[in-house]
Amino acid sequence: MARYIGAVCKLCRREGTKLYLKGERCFSEKCAFSRRPYPPGQHGQGRVKLSEYALRLREKQKTRRIYGLLEEQFRSYYAQASSMKGRTGEEMLGILERRLDNVVHRMGFAITRAQGRQLVRHNHILVNGRRVNIPSYRVNVGDKVSLRESSRQIAFVQTALAAADTRPRASWVEVDKETLTGVFKSLPVREEMNEPLVREQLVVEYYSR
Ligand code: SF4
Repeated sequence: MARYIGAVCKLCRREGTKLYLKGERCFSEKCAFSRRPYPPGQHGQGRVKLSEYALRLREKQKTRRIYGLLEEQFRSYYAQASSMKGRTGEEMLGILERRLDNVVHRMGFAITRAQGRQLVRHNHILVNGRRVNIPSYRVNVGDKVSLRESSRQIAFVQTALAAADTRPRASWVEVDKETLTGVFKSLPVREEMNEPLVREQLVVEYYSR
């Protein structure tokens, strides 16, 4: 599946919030959004009042960009969520959170979801002991996700692990730091997915208009 390969800091500036797409840089003073917290482009600093439609569009774009997806795939997750029993917005976030590249990131093996995707694509990740190289693979409750032994010394993995130790880990994953194996213990908890903040109801309203 294709992916976005343009400048990512512009995306944060467009969405008016930090999307944390660049790892440690996002927490440093080099963060482009901290330095220029207005949309990119010639008219970025002009004042614009967003319409209802624009608000929903921006929320949809923001959510899609957090998870690093293109429109087609993101919309298909919405379609799947809308046919589920629960609240569509929360179901959609649940599906997004269960993507393997996201789980690798949540477990602290990768500092961003893009890095998680790279680890998966390059065959560094095992699910229940078997190699899986599909970033959209949907992780199930109880699955064990681990780094291949030969991949544990990758420099950016070491950096990510060190950074993960300094921040709270999601409660639905548990990681054994010795074996670099994580367990996806339970379905994600909506209240904990607050950074960056997603207003999933607006995404639902965007697609169901
Ligand atoms: Fe760039 Fe800052 Fe956004 Fe990180 S949070 S991607 S550094 S603008």
